[in-house]
Amino acid sequence: MKAFEATRIFFDQAADRLEIDPDLREALLMPQREVQVQVTIRLDDGRLANYIGFRVQHDHSRGPMKGGLRFHPEVDLDETRALASLMTWKTAVVDLPYGGAKGGIGIDPSKMSSAEIERLTRAFVDQIHDIVGPDTDIPAPDMGTDHQVMAWFRNQWEKYHGFHPAVITGKPVEEYGAKGREEATGRGVGTLTVKLTKRLGMDASKTRVAIQGFGNVGSHAAKFLHDAQFPIVAVSDITGTYYNADGLNIPELLRHKFAHPKGLLEGFERAEHLPLDALLKLDHVEVLIPAALGGVITQKNAQDINAKVIVEAANGPVDPDADAALHDRGVTILPDILANAGGVTVSYFEWVQNRQHYRWPLDRVRQELDHTMNEAFEKVWQMAAQHEVSLRTAAYMIGISRVRRATELAGLA
Ligand code: GLU
Repeated sequence: MKAFEATRIFFDQAADRLEIDPDLREALLMPQREVQVQVTIRLDDGRLANYIGFRVQHDHSRGPMKGGLRFHPEVDLDETRALASLMTWKTAVVDLPYGGAKGGIGIDPSKMSSAEIERLTRAFVDQIHDIVGPDTDIPAPDMGTDHQVMAWFRNQWEKYHGFHPAVITGKPVEEYGAKGREEATGRGVGTLTVKLTKRLGMDASKTRVAIQGFGNVGSHAAKFLHDAQFPIVAVSDITGTYYNADGLNIPELLRHKFAHPKGLLEGFERAEHLPLDALLKLDHVEVLIPAALGGVITQKNAQDINAKVIVEAANGPVDPDADAALHDRGVTILPDILANAGGVTVSYFEWVQNRQHYRWPLDRVRQELDHTMNEAFEKVWQMAAQHEVSLRTAAYMIGISRVRRATELAGLA
């Protein structure tokens, strides 16, 4: 199923409950603007390479649009549109004064040199600099981009518009970035996993966790949950699944990852090495955390999943058919627009600090992040109980209601 179609189905399930009429649904779902640009760079070997860069600005009724930049081979207009709409509901669920956007380029950054990625980022900024800005649309990291890409982006944008670090978030800490931004998504995932499992009466030390993906989000979530006494029995990356029934030594795994030239788990010996797809099907796992790509849990493999709880650290990992089947089987799913909102929440803190020329200590970032995540969780939990709906439908209901209210207050003449 196409990514935007999947998000439309989730949107409709909530819109049905909210009894939103079809015209307003269309107005809320349709992106404000979609930009597609040519990005041409010279490769290190002298050849020219041509790519398409996307920026989809989904909704700005609640504030400037916000969302990451993805460098990944699967990036296309449909996926970017889906991810932009998720940002609209996500920023609304955690009540940040933002709308939603997303951008990206369909490349594999692991096959490019750092100099090529720098040229690519700067060429992309040359094409979209006039539609982004601290009061209009503020990009951030996503898959395949990091603080270095953010620093290049800002530097190039400022050549056109002058000093304004708030044009982008997720910057290096010494270059106007926020302390705690890098860990934020994983920390938010961890915080809510602790909260949800406690609410479901599960005991941390007996709650085995499997994490798909050991990038920025998966690795920080693993660290947080390991520190909270959860046994992390399996993690995976593109090199396979690493399993230890007694719980993996996460600090050791992290050291291995940072020592590896590409940040991979390849060669980690103190675990059983299983195929990539083994992670989803593991028998003795209570919590499954997909923290990589979208669309990984489908109708086809949903019946193989034995976990009782799924925490969506990735954007859109469970497609709507699988979602319904898992819900019927009593699996609790903490949806992406709540579970992984920690990243954009600390992006907001970074933007606020930039605008005030003020810096928060790490304690304050963590404290305010925990507060935001806990408060959003409680609202979603109550909504789900009150309307007897899934946590996903409840989260969408809250997000959509806030966007709808802002849209109607502004006027729909
Ligand atoms: N890319 C992240 C997300 O999907 C963060 C976006 C941001 O910080 O603006 O939520």
